[in-house]
Amino acid sequence: MGSADRAVADGEIDLAGEAAQLPRLRLSEIFLSLQGEADAVGWPTVFVRLTGCPLRCVWCDTAYAFHGGQWHTIDAILEAVAGHGVRHVCVTGGEPLAQKRCLVLLERLCDAGYAVSLETSGALDVAAVDPRVRKVVDLKAPGSGEAARNLWSNLDHLLPHDQLKIVIADRGDYEWAVARLHEHALAQRCQVLLSPVHGRLAPRELAQWILADRLPVRFQLQLHKQLWGDLPGH
Ligand code: SF4
Repeated sequence: MGSADRAVADGEIDLAGEAAQLPRLRLSEIFLSLQGEADAVGWPTVFVRLTGCPLRCVWCDTAYAFHGGQWHTIDAILEAVAGHGVRHVCVTGGEPLAQKRCLVLLERLCDAGYAVSLETSGALDVAAVDPRVRKVVDLKAPGSGEAARNLWSNLDHLLPHDQLKIVIADRGDYEWAVARLHEHALAQRCQVLLSPVHGRLAPRELAQWILADRLPVRFQLQLHKQLWGDLPGH
């Protein structure tokens, strides 16, 4: 089958002809799964994973999205998303905001009526993200090796439906999170989610610390890790 005949199915995207001249994004994968994190956990969701990230968190589980990928038009991405037939769409990476046209994609997805979320590292400016998008913004704790990249001005662009996520590798990260929670009144801005680094911190330990401190945060385990481990495409 030639590329011009390729139908949009199973995340495949037609890029033939004039479409190649339209605004494009570099994509690692589009796939259907259950949302594994944050407020929309458990919903059947189409994931649009953009390629590339300027950070290198030591526990990163999507390093395969740092390089490679293929260019696709925004129209083709919307067509592929529609082909999956679900209401929730998550734009993720890598760091999706590293590609400026991600903002256009987010707006187009919202216009099309999807419930759209964005997973972002917290290192890039979120000010221009469409307010209809539910932003899930990381705060990088020291154990990530990237705490210096936190763009603290992003806190001023959080809406009540957004979420802050802090991934905790050890007790030092937890104490850092508690300090930032108080320093920036994080829990008053939006929901704060704390997750243990998969395979490094026992989930029960983090749960006990949160309970002992009556911390106003939501504990979360990554549902997709329980279901499918570290397989790409889930
Ligand atoms: S920001 Fe996300 S994609 Fe980038 S290195 Fe960190 S965990 Fe990986």
